[in-house]
Amino acid sequence: MDPRELTFPFQSEVRPGESGQGYALRMAAENHLNGLPQLKILLGKSRFATLDAVDSPLLHRWFGADERSLDHVLGWIHTGKRSEEYVYAGHTLGRSYFLNRSYPRVCFKCLQAEGHCKTAWDFSLAVACAKHGELLADTCPHCHRSITWHRPTPGTCSCHLEFSAACDPALASALEAQFATWIDQQIEKKTRVRDQDELLPSSTTEAPAGLTPLMQLVWPLSLNGGLCLTFALATAAGYDEKCSCDGLRPRAPLKKAQRILLNAAQFAQKIQLQDEMHLRVQRPSVVVQLLADCISGDKPPADRNLAQSLLISFLRIRSKARWSGTNPQLSQLHLF
Ligand SMILES: [Zn+2]
Ligand SMILES: [Zn+2]
Repeated sequence: MDPRELTFPFQSEVRPGESGQGYALRMAAENHLNGLPQLKILLGKSRFATLDAVDSPLLHRWFGADERSLDHVLGWIHTGKRSEEYVYAGHTLGRSYFLNRSYPRVCFKCLQAEGHCKTAWDFSLAVACAKHGELLADTCPHCHRSITWHRPTPGTCSCHLEFSAACDPALASALEAQFATWIDQQIEKKTRVRDQDELLPSSTTEAPAGLTPLMQLVWPLSLNGGLCLTFALATAAGYDEKCSCDGLRPRAPLKKAQRILLNAAQFAQKIQLQDEMHLRVQRPSVVVQLLADCISGDKPPADRNLAQSLLISFLRIRSKARWSGTNPQLSQLHLF
């Protein structure tokens, strides 16, 4: 039968905060289909592909969700611009690695209470649940395998264990919880803009008390700006993908993300303390490129201002280093 002619009996809208792939998985389960693998066959996609907005018309036809909502939560490659750019949950993201759509993470408590996967969990630096203050899980507590998008339902592992709130995840650090809250808030902001529920009084929300130094920098920025900044600071602090894999599974994006947050936080703390003695920028070309992207195009003023001030300090020191003579180490520069 032609997939374009199908409709399934159980229909639903995308729920607030629900991810696109999570919606497809939930609807497949409700309609007793064989999960995302069967949907991918019907959509003409390979088993390894992720769903995106190209699939919205068929998902709309099959399961009834509004097409605009599906586009919003499925996302798409930003056409006509740099091939790395991605639009996801209404945000333009400068790097595809800001998203993690292949190795799902979940909060067992949220899944048990709400029964759906959240958009926020698809960001590669989202390691905690903002609501429960616990680390997200990427492995099953029963079979100890990675949780996959090919599981039978949102709340069940491929080993058929039903995830429950009793699966005891570790508490998140203040930084991890604050970062998750910030991502949640950014997603919610764009959803309200999409639905035009209200005109937002300003583009920034008042920052809560007790933010860590990294979060004080990140809070007023756009989602893309904050992610650029965090990756830039982690890189400046010497974060290196190769070193971080020692002793871990080759695919351990959750641990990697925790390491990136920690490195960025340490660097932000040095900036705050103006600890010039220890402030060296590793891999400056990568750092400069990430910061420069926050200034280009029509980026929001908060992103531009912060990136500009960091870049200016950085370039000023670089020119000093060039003039000061004996073999300046371009790979290890003082920032301030
Ligand atoms: Zn939760
Ligand atoms: Zn399992």
